Amino acid sequence: MRLLVVEDHPILADGLVKALKTADYAVDHADSGDAADHMLATQPYDAVILDIGLPKLDGYEVLRRMRRRGSKTPVLMLTARDALEDRVRGLDLGADDYLTKPYDLPELEARVRALIRRGQSGGGAELRHGELTLDTAGRRATIRGAPIELSARELGVLEVLMLRVGRVVSKEQLAEQLYGWGEEVGANAIEVYVHRLRKKLEPAGVSVRTIRGLGYLLERSAND
Ligand code: CA
Repeated sequence: MRLLVVEDHPILADGLVKALKTADYAVDHADSGDAADHMLATQPYDAVILDIGLPKLDGYEVLRRMRRRGSKTPVLMLTARDALEDRVRGLDLGADDYLTKPYDLPELEARVRALIRRGQSGGGAELRHGELTLDTAGRRATIRGAPIELSARELGVLEVLMLRVGRVVSKEQLAEQLYGWGEEVGANAIEVYVHRLRKKLEPAGVSVRTIRGLGYLLERSAND
């Protein structure tokens, strides 16, 4: 799950980004409206947390441009306390939810989770592959209904592989999904996640093949 935080106040932005990363999201940050507009036009996000008062383009304009491009990405607007007008305007422009400043981080996280769940309900949040099921909104994988314990990164790898069953997924594609921009991707990290995931998927008869030099391929094992 990849989020964009659009907030120009450095301390607020820092707190928000850290909290969301701790909650295992891949998080990008934009500190101006035009940076946000550019990132939203070129990168897919699962949800956006959008401040209103921003340099260059304000939050309303960023939202207006997103919706004009046809983007349905859920947006949580951050508004000033008691500014009813702000909220109405944001919702009119296509915001999905709002939160007044100063907000509580746990509440913000809960709202973001709910937004992502709603955003995905149209597209089906449950991925199936043989006996393996992945609930992308609930971030939970099960084999024949029994939960398997996966770390957030392993879940992220699994989600990308399941979305592209039968196709080769490169390490770069996996890294892209798992990390925010500008974050170091450990050279062997992806290999480690895939290795662990492979072991945990064995009971489901699901195998992740390594295609040397190209990446990974999720396929059913021969005895399935
Ligand atoms: Ca601001």
